[in-house]
Amino acid sequence: MALPTKKVYIRTFGCQMNVADSEVMAQVLADDYVLTERAEEADLYLINTCAIRRKSEEKVRSLLGSLKVWKKRRPQLVLGVGGCVAQQEGERLLAAAPHLDLIFGTQGIYRLPELVRRAWMGARPVDVELAPCFPPLPRRQWLGAPLQALVTIMQGCNNFCTFCVVPYVRGREMSREPGVILTEASAFLAAGGKEITLLGQNVNSYGRGLPESVTFPQLLRRVAALPGLNRLRFATSHPRDLSPDLRLAFAELPPLCEHLHLPVQSGANRILQAMNRGYTREEYLEKVAWLRQACPGIALSTDLIVGFPGETDSDFAQTLDLMREAAFDQAFSFKYSPRPQTRAAGFPDQLPEEVKAERLTRLQSLQDELTIKAHRGLLGQVREVLVEGLSRRSPDQLCGRLRTNQVVNFPGPREWIGSLMLLQITEAHPHSLQGRPLEVPLTSQPLADRLPASPKELSC
Ligand code: SAM
Ligand code: SF4
Repeated sequence: MALPTKKVYIRTFGCQMNVADSEVMAQVLADDYVLTERAEEADLYLINTCAIRRKSEEKVRSLLGSLKVWKKRRPQLVLGVGGCVAQQEGERLLAAAPHLDLIFGTQGIYRLPELVRRAWMGARPVDVELAPCFPPLPRRQWLGAPLQALVTIMQGCNNFCTFCVVPYVRGREMSREPGVILTEASAFLAAGGKEITLLGQNVNSYGRGLPESVTFPQLLRRVAALPGLNRLRFATSHPRDLSPDLRLAFAELPPLCEHLHLPVQSGANRILQAMNRGYTREEYLEKVAWLRQACPGIALSTDLIVGFPGETDSDFAQTLDLMREAAFDQAFSFKYSPRPQTRAAGFPDQLPEEVKAERLTRLQSLQDELTIKAHRGLLGQVREVLVEGLSRRSPDQLCGRLRTNQVVNFPGPREWIGSLMLLQITEAHPHSLQGRPLEVPLTSQPLADRLPASPKELSC
């Protein structure tokens, strides 16, 4: 079969789920297009969008605006917008941007080849049909260097947290068959992969609706048993559905990394209730305590929203208090952003931007204190690192990640990229650590010769 001559450039906004979707997009188009990292040489330019906050949506609109001139200069370029904003806006986006050739929603990615063919013929197709589905076959092809893979295990969400647009733009929850997940994961490991992250909006409810009875901890056990797997992670775990079985998995499965992302959102019970999160602060903290008991040294990260409608000073103080008690290693924090269709957007007592901004600053400076404290606790320790790429801080340093998810920079040759090795932690910084290699890599198969042409994608 002749190799494709046309090129596709994909610009991805948003979460790991979107990164995984962009990989699927490249794969379904692979018969006709090769992926390029240079937007200016693309025949097809796709934007994979995020609608979670207004700011993410604005970034997409501003990029779209700047591409107007491009399209004028190169009218043969096919320009498409996909993902969550496309799902939310549909035809409206096409009307607002006459230079756009194609709109595809969160499920349209699987129908891309046909949609792109129609766009080439000038049809300006819009596909926002929302019936969650997966590609018919497991992925067997990995983009770039086969080091870390994102494997989608479920789509959509049934939780309807009152602030969140995900159930509206990604549809109802649907789990992927375990056999397909295992085939995909095995193919990745056979290609030399080392770390797998299983993805879903609420992985703890994995398995509901599947013909075979299987829970998330059971799936984890099956993936963890695959030969060649060094590291296993997952995201995201909803605190309400975190089961004792999952706690045991942390204690029992060697590849499962000692890190859990457990978004709490708020530390005040009345706000958690208004958010429809389904747990109290006491239940959350109890789960944190039994996780730490089952897996001493586990690192915890979280998501927090400040300025949810009706949040008082005292509610906010309870969030700060919970952060101290849970001693989070890392937190992703956001100002509440009202989203279309969500219930909270219609709640009374929306807070002014200045209040949200002031609370966000206070919360982030507390988290900085907690993070540096956790980093200092690692000083002098010897830890395993997976060497991910070149350091952003200095081009003659490498960077990698501990099993507990902290980024470490250290000196070493490029040939070590892709290896597992031991480091001693020598310095603690607010967002990273510095390390000293104690040995040559534990694994003998360096990744350097298999790196993509540009190392850009592999720096942390
Ligand atoms: N499924 C995950 C969970 O339940 O925790 C969260 C997925 S969401 C893509 C990632 C994070 O974005 C959320 O945990 C929340 O903190 C934040 N987020 C979602 N909607 C938001 C909104 N309307 N305003 C501000 N932050 C929001
Ligand atoms: Fe959104 Fe809640 Fe579903 Fe997470 S669990 S994706 S926050 S609705």
